[in-house]
Amino acid sequence: MGSAMPSDMHVHTTFSDGRLTPEEIVTAAKAAGLTYLAITDHDTVDGIRHLYENGLYPLKTLRLIPGIEFSCEEDEHDVHILGYDFDIYNQELADKVNELSESRWTRFSQMMARLQELGYSITEADVMQIAGSSRSIGRAHVARALVKKGLMPTVHDAFEKLLEHGCPAYIPHFRLQPAEAVALIRQAGGIPVLAHPKLVGDDELVSSLLTLDFGGLEVYYPQHDASDTVRYKALAERHALRLTGGSDFHALPHREPKELGVFTIDDALAEPFFHPPEALE
Ligand SMILES: [Zn+2]
Ligand SMILES: [Zn+2]
Repeated sequence: MGSAMPSDMHVHTTFSDGRLTPEEIVTAAKAAGLTYLAITDHDTVDGIRHLYENGLYPLKTLRLIPGIEFSCEEDEHDVHILGYDFDIYNQELADKVNELSESRWTRFSQMMARLQELGYSITEADVMQIAGSSRSIGRAHVARALVKKGLMPTVHDAFEKLLEHGCPAYIPHFRLQPAEAVALIRQAGGIPVLAHPKLVGDDELVSSLLTLDFGGLEVYYPQHDASDTVRYKALAERHALRLTGGSDFHALPHREPKELGVFTIDDALAEPFFHPPEALE
């Protein structure tokens, strides 16, 4: 969307499957001249807590909006739900996030066992090496380890041949129902936003999901073309939802955009989600 006053409401760090630490993301966002930045790691707020607890929470030229992205599932479609502007120390949210993280580790062990059964000589240590400081191990790390070990030509192949739904090394995981994620974000004082509706892959499902207590729709997204954007903007307006957007930046070589600040939204869209933590005001 590009504007003179750019913001980005969808960015991942090493606390999920991104490749830059929260500190590196903050530095890159400042260098890119962003006004508002939301860190939206998968199923965790530890990256934001990390900034807050180390006096690194940006509030001045760059303003941080607390975010999270829950991976949900509905009718075998991946449904991602973003939450913004909530209490990062909310107990119910923390409990649910811990539950998700524990099940992620169980799933990871099962995935590795399956790959070994299939004859891929890859160990948990190989994946841990790739995952580095990431606390939230996932298929993306496994895919990269498979490529690094020369067992798959590309990350894309690793997903397509082994790791995707219906593939031999796919392990189903515990996920929240969309309604559960929406309620969890609301009770933590936040605003639930349906992420990248095009990637849901079914506009009828998107419409029915929007009957939940959402506060926004991620209309601006790198994989939405001009007609998608127009369609989702109209849908958001029909449901009286705020328009949001973000780059879904991961700092991964195979994934667009490759830099922060390349895909941005207007500050005015992000501004209503910004409330500095009370202790820092
Ligand atoms: Zn997503
Ligand atoms: Zn994302």
